[in-house]
Amino acid sequence: MTTAGTPAIELRGVTRAYVSDDDAPATTALDGVDLAIGRGELVAVCGPSGSGKSTFLHLAGALDTPTSGEVIVDGADVGDLTAAARADLRNRSIGFVFQAFNLMQGLTAAENIGLPAVLARRKPADIDASVADLLDLVGLAARADRRPSQLSGGEQQRVALARALVLDPPIVLADEPTGNLDTNAGRAVLDLLLASHSAGRTVVIVTHDQRIAAQAERVIYLRDGKVAQEAHARPAPANLTGLLDTTVGS
Ligand code: ADP
Repeated sequence: MTTAGTPAIELRGVTRAYVSDDDAPATTALDGVDLAIGRGELVAVCGPSGSGKSTFLHLAGALDTPTSGEVIVDGADVGDLTAAARADLRNRSIGFVFQAFNLMQGLTAAENIGLPAVLARRKPADIDASVADLLDLVGLAARADRRPSQLSGGEQQRVALARALVLDPPIVLADEPTGNLDTNAGRAVLDLLLASHSAGRTVVIVTHDQRIAAQAERVIYLRDGKVAQEAHARPAPANLTGLLDTTVGS
C-alpha cells in the first residue's frame, strides 16, 4: 500500500459538512480543500477556532470520511474503505497525539505505551522491547510503573507520544499536543515530535503555538474551511501571524 513518490496525505476537492438532527443548516467545516503533504514533511496547521483544523486532522487520520472529494492516506482512498479497513489503515500508518492525552487511567505508563501493540497482537517479547526503547526515548524509564494520575501533564503527553509510536507508523498526527502544557513541558513534547520527524516520519501538528509553527517546514493556515495561505515558516511572515490564533480553543 505504501507507494514511494506519492504524498503521505492528499486531499482532492474535499468538503466535510456536518448535518445536525434539527432543521439547522449544515456546517461546512472544510470547503473544497486541495492539499498534498509529502512523505517526511513536518507541517503545522494553524488558524482560528472553528476554521476546520480538527476536521482536517480527523480526515487525514482516517477517523472520518469526506462528504465529497477524496482523502488519500498512505496510498489508500479513505472514502472507499470499510470502517474495519480504516481501522487497519490507522494501525498501520498513523500515530495520534491528542491535546487531552487520552491515556487509560487504569494502566501504567508502560502498559499504555504497549496497548496498541497488544491490540495488534504483536509478540509479548517484541512489545516489551519496544516499550522499553520508547520509555527511554521519552525519558520516562524511571516512571514506567506509574499510572497517568501519578504523572505530570508533560509526562502524560510523553507517554501518549510513545504510545503513538509503538507500532512505528510512518505518519504522526498531533492535535494541539502542547495546548495543556506549560512552556517547558511543551518544549519537551515539541522536541520529541521534531525527533520523530528527523527519524523520517511525516509529522502534522495542529497548533496555536507560534513556537511550533516556527519549527515547521511548512505552515498551512485554514480559515472558514479553506486553505487561506501556506508559508514556509522560518521566520513566519509578519502578514500571516495574525492568522495564528492565540486564544483558547481549537
Ligand atoms: P477547529 O479545529 O479549527 O477549531 P473544527 O474542525 O473543530 O475547527 O470545526 C470546524 C467547524 O465545524 C466549526 O464550525 C465546528 O463548530 C463544526 N463542527 C466540528 N465538528 C462538528 C460536529 N461533530 N458536528 C457539527 N459541527 C461540527
